[in-house]
Amino acid sequence: MPRKPKPSAPPPPAPTDSRGRVTDPEPIVGEVEFDRTLRPRRLEEFVGQTGLREQMRIAVEAARGRGEAIDHVLFHGPPGLGKTTLASILAAEMGVSFTQTSGPVLERAADLAGLLTNLDEHGILFIDEIHRINPVVEEYLYPAIEDFCLDIMIDRGPSARSVRIDLKRFTLVGATTRTGLLSAPLRGRFGLSARLDYYPADDLATIIRRSANILGVALDDEGAAEIAKRSRGTPRVGNRLLRRVRDYAETRADGVITGAVARSGLELLEVDARGLDDMDRRMLEAIVVKYGGGPVGLSTIAVVVGEEPDTLEDVYEPFLIQEGFLKRTSRGREATDLAFHHLGLNPPPRGDHAEAREEDTPQQKLL
Ligand code: ADP
Repeated sequence: MPRKPKPSAPPPPAPTDSRGRVTDPEPIVGEVEFDRTLRPRRLEEFVGQTGLREQMRIAVEAARGRGEAIDHVLFHGPPGLGKTTLASILAAEMGVSFTQTSGPVLERAADLAGLLTNLDEHGILFIDEIHRINPVVEEYLYPAIEDFCLDIMIDRGPSARSVRIDLKRFTLVGATTRTGLLSAPLRGRFGLSARLDYYPADDLATIIRRSANILGVALDDEGAAEIAKRSRGTPRVGNRLLRRVRDYAETRADGVITGAVARSGLELLEVDARGLDDMDRRMLEAIVVKYGGGPVGLSTIAVVVGEEPDTLEDVYEPFLIQEGFLKRTSRGREATDLAFHHLGLNPPPRGDHAEAREEDTPQQKLL
């Protein structure tokens, strides 16, 4: 239940729809085909995340050497960093089939049973957003991934009986943006667990050059670096910015993405030099201007900017924290000096904005 705003609180602005913004790390409408074209298919095409890539290579080689299925794998990290890509690469490297679903889609045990009974030997079942799986369905998943069987209830009432179905040996690859929300028993059942981190600008520039090559877009190094810098450490955002800047280059320049063309195109998209978009800036402004830099509770910020607290926490905050604009403290969110400078303001003397406001305390449960 959303908390009721206090009578003194400003009326919440109409929620804005952050989906579809140019910096959205989740796929947006009309992007499926584009995504498919650019998605790396083999490990050697997967740029960056060197440690993780090596870990995957070893797991694949070991499993292939033994003629076994690969261990169950959990990928965690913010959206758009390559979890789905890696899962499909694992299938390609293992030479096995790839079946994709997501936690919220598996509403009933029968949905899961249908998928599991159709898997090939050593096949990969990829469950995106696995933290959102229905707890009842999750119970069925345990024997499936541990003992490769399903206990299904047939009939109701006195004639009800349990039937055991043997499954082929398969690999579950789970992906989550929130490991904290995954139940401990489920987390414990993955043999491999790997975190994907935001990409450094160099790796993003490589990804953007690779994509430009595939799309046949003329792009120089400065143009790639300019787009990379504003891609929020996220390949999906980098690829999308490339596509938008390509449109700009073709209609407002001579088709070549140089540094200057990229800068002008990105300014039009309101993505600033640090990759912050309108919502990031509004979030920082809410903390800095309305609450003197914080600390302030997440749901208060959510009301001020007109966005769901969950979206702020999953999508916006990790990047702002990683870039050093925001701190998550025990008393709420705090803007750093960098945030003040970025908004063209002087930070208050140290300690001035460290006072917690009484009205924020109810939000502490959200921290
Ligand atoms: P997630 O599942 O983590 O949300 P995806 O695997 O769907 O992310 O990746 C989003 C897009 O970003 C992919 O379509 C792919 O084109 C690109 N991408 C992700 N990681 C990489 C990478 N390491 N190298 C090249 N492209 C990547």
